[in-house]
Amino acid sequence: MGTEVAGPVRTYRVRTYGCQMNVHDSERLAGLLEGAGYTAAAAGDDADVVVLNTCAVRENADNRLYGNLGQLRPVKDARPGMQIAVGGCLAQKDRGEIVRRAPWVDVVFGTHNVGSLPALLERARHNAEAQVEIKEALEVFPSSLPAKRDSAYAGWVSISVGCNNTCTFCIVPSLRGTEKDRRPGEILAEVQALVDQGVLEVTLLGQNVNSYGAEFGDRGAFADLLRAAGRIDGLERIRFTSPHPRDFTDDVIAAMAETPAVCHQLHMPMQSGSDDVLRRMRRSYRRERYLGIIDRVRAAMPDAAITTDIIVGFPGETDEDFERTLDVVRQARFAGAFTFQYSKRPGTPAAEMDGQVPKAVVQERYERLTARQDEISWAGNAALIGRAVELLVAAGEGSKDAARGRMTGRARDGRLVHFTATDGVRPGDVVETVLTQAAPHHLVADGPLVSHRRTRAGDAAEAGTRPTTPGIVLGMPGVGAPA
Ligand code: SF4
Repeated sequence: MGTEVAGPVRTYRVRTYGCQMNVHDSERLAGLLEGAGYTAAAAGDDADVVVLNTCAVRENADNRLYGNLGQLRPVKDARPGMQIAVGGCLAQKDRGEIVRRAPWVDVVFGTHNVGSLPALLERARHNAEAQVEIKEALEVFPSSLPAKRDSAYAGWVSISVGCNNTCTFCIVPSLRGTEKDRRPGEILAEVQALVDQGVLEVTLLGQNVNSYGAEFGDRGAFADLLRAAGRIDGLERIRFTSPHPRDFTDDVIAAMAETPAVCHQLHMPMQSGSDDVLRRMRRSYRRERYLGIIDRVRAAMPDAAITTDIIVGFPGETDEDFERTLDVVRQARFAGAFTFQYSKRPGTPAAEMDGQVPKAVVQERYERLTARQDEISWAGNAALIGRAVELLVAAGEGSKDAARGRMTGRARDGRLVHFTATDGVRPGDVVETVLTQAAPHHLVADGPLVSHRRTRAGDAAEAGTRPTTPGIVLGMPGVGAPA
């Protein structure tokens, strides 16, 4: 094993900001630190090591980081030997600037050298000097690093890192690099390792899962991967994020429809319904192609829940452009949408574009769009009342519903359901119940359960154990060439 921490056991806490990629990277950071002899700090306790795994997507991301670092300074001053480490996309972007602005930071590491953290912490302690180490390209595939999972019943599995697209509002490619694909055998071995520990659901992760395989020249690799993962006994649910409309091909739709474990849920970012805006975003597709994919998905899976991401107020967006976005939203009837007000990201082409839309106009459009989408989401949910639904019971998502004796679960189509639970139902178990009420962002099932299946994941969640996966590398025992 790598760097072992010297002296009494030190505790750690990882704070995660941003996207699922960061959430999964934080599981790797926890796995690395535990592999180096650290232990997770108990809730509410100060930790010997605090790791901030940062995001750089939003303008206020910087303010939030330096604000958090400011709050940590007195904690560190009062706790000799405490260390602060900053990683993730903002570390990759700001590098030594972080130590210049916050000299009480001990370690800065980037998105390409996650594995360096334990060694950098030891070096900073030994040399009593801040360590800044940023790599320009991926050192090792993050999935070759150990991971301590957050959930007993659902797991993230990276299939690629980085992105080959150049959307003009996005800083990801410059911080996470061009796309690197994992070999299918490694991915399937990691899925198998999770299922062997009772995990029922996996989400395949990539900035653009539809271009998976491009790096090793196999355009059909993603559809094949879905089918191969679907053949793993004990894996009940397969999800994936993020697809990209430009590369979304019919073989993926067929694999989704023909592989029982693949959930009929698709989160496909649209960003805008205006071809002019899509052109300036450099999204490489137009609205007709986007709507065409939606139609073909619905033809193959009529019960599919489709959600999306939409940016309002992109530079140069006119009233007509915005009306076109509303029109696609009306046609697509999304089950839900993450809507964002455009904010400048320094270092992106869009930040330099003419026609920056006034904040008041952006706000007004944002409110109209969210109101329109909430109506559609609510109507879509209301149409499901009376239907029986299978739920994977989630841990602690609906605290306010706990007071009503309800728990929360995810349906196969990704919808959130608060249901009346009987004794003995645990996170990780699977229940079936009938939907009784609808709201824009969730459903309710207040009747008696139709069935309750206790699972190994439920046992693990009850026992407080979490799956761990060793780093998975091609050539390891059980890790063969593409299945
Ligand atoms: S597809 Fe576009 S928005 Fe998504 S990560 Fe790549 S560059 Fe960014």
